[in-house]
Amino acid sequence: MDANNKGCYDRDPHNDDEKPPDRGWVVPPKTKNPFVQQEDLCRVMELLSVKENEARTALVHYRWDVKKVSAVLLEKGASNLFAEAGVSIPEEDQASNNTPTLEPVIRCRICFMPKSHMTRMNCGHCFCNKCWTKYFTINILNGKSRRIKCMAHRCNSICDESIIRNLVGEQDVNLAEKFERFLFESYIEENKMVKWCPSIPPCGYALQIKDEDDLICEVECRCGRQFCFGCLLEPHSPCTCLMWEMWAKSRDELETDNWLNMNTKRCPVCHKCIQKDGGCNSMYCPCGNKFSWLHAIATGKEHTGTAVANHSICCGRKENEERYTYCYASYMGHMESLKLEMKLKDRIERKLSTWKGALVEERLKSGLHMLSIARRFLSHSYVLAFYMFWDKFRNEMSKEERKSRKKIFEDKQQQLEDHVERLSGLLNKPFEVSMDDPYSTQVSIIYQSIATDSLCRNMYDFIKNDLLGSLRSGPLRIAPYRSEGPVRAILLGAVTTEDSHSDNQHC
Ligand SMILES: [Zn+2]
Ligand SMILES: [Zn+2]
Ligand SMILES: [Zn+2]
Ligand SMILES: [Zn+2]
Ligand SMILES: [Zn+2]
Ligand SMILES: [Zn+2]
Ligand SMILES: [Zn+2]
Repeated sequence: MDANNKGCYDRDPHNDDEKPPDRGWVVPPKTKNPFVQQEDLCRVMELLSVKENEARTALVHYRWDVKKVSAVLLEKGASNLFAEAGVSIPEEDQASNNTPTLEPVIRCRICFMPKSHMTRMNCGHCFCNKCWTKYFTINILNGKSRRIKCMAHRCNSICDESIIRNLVGEQDVNLAEKFERFLFESYIEENKMVKWCPSIPPCGYALQIKDEDDLICEVECRCGRQFCFGCLLEPHSPCTCLMWEMWAKSRDELETDNWLNMNTKRCPVCHKCIQKDGGCNSMYCPCGNKFSWLHAIATGKEHTGTAVANHSICCGRKENEERYTYCYASYMGHMESLKLEMKLKDRIERKLSTWKGALVEERLKSGLHMLSIARRFLSHSYVLAFYMFWDKFRNEMSKEERKSRKKIFEDKQQQLEDHVERLSGLLNKPFEVSMDDPYSTQVSIIYQSIATDSLCRNMYDFIKNDLLGSLRSGPLRIAPYRSEGPVRAILLGAVTTEDSHSDNQHC
């Protein structure tokens, strides 16, 4: 986020009380591994008729995607699935009861010492505890905790995590903790339902969603940071993640080097717009004119033209450029207004604390909250409009479709904008006036908030179904509209060890 927007995504004052999680969001059950998705494990244990550690090995291989596990099971069968994922089923489980038990191993086949403390992995390979522990220690010290293979030559079986935990823990408690932390981190990195909070500096929290339908949604971390779960950028609905990524990139370019002036100029003779993507400032236009980039004036015939390949000519850009400037200005306009309006919060608090108007304060604050939701919605809708009607997604509908949908879209946008300004006007009324006649102003604020909310919802439905839902290349998804703002997300766990951040590539 750029410096100008700092504070726009401050935590919402109405969410300060700890609310019960929304439906569809769960706190993972407290097990001996607090981070394990017990539900997924149980489903896979049932599906494959295996024990917990074998189910975990399979899930880690298929990135905690239970659907994928059952698809592979159907397609390739259980034994191929086990081989692919490195799951070994202990021989005792497979063999019938009639087979004679294996002869006890008395010598470790690595150190060749006769040992009493031996450990047999599921694959059947058996070595002494000292050798296993040494092997696991080296792996963990090298940063590898996940999917450690069996020590035996050419054995692809994955060692049981609980055996590793016990053996390493007996020798070195700190190392066992490191093992757990690595497992936790790799679990988060591999599970698409879990993500680190993107706050800077990192707050260390990981957030989890319950349902795959929530993969695109807006969440709030305990640290107060709000973000889109899909792209980790600031919340941007009703804009899609792809549009927002393009927008954020071009917005940064615009703000850092004034992109529109820096990279595009018109040929002074034919007025076609020329984009510069090479270092040379002598430009060669297809019309035959040569001019200096720096002053955008004709340079005569001196330029050799050898570097023409570095100058890309992009015609028909003018309209797009103007729309970009327009959308950018509208977007920034709403964000600037929002910043000013959020200062009203202090004024309300200061005024009302003197006569303890808790109910009045609540009404004004919820009006202010609705205003902030609608302002963001509106500002994002300009970004959507740019990509939808003027840029990347322009040709995703026929000319007629575009014309009629654009008309409906702009009417709705205009209507919402009118209501937002009216709500802002009510909230901005000098406070003395409100005190003279506080009741009618408050009632107006309540009604105006309700109307604004339903206009947002109505416009959201139109965008979701009629615009993004009917693209030629298939529908695009956006985070659901919520009058309350982003969902207070589920905290999966926190990495709190002091050196954890240096180990974590996210920071
Ligand atoms: Zn040994
Ligand atoms: Zn083995
Ligand atoms: Zn956070
Ligand atoms: Zn996103
Ligand atoms: Zn020209
Ligand atoms: Zn040149
Ligand atoms: Zn052009």
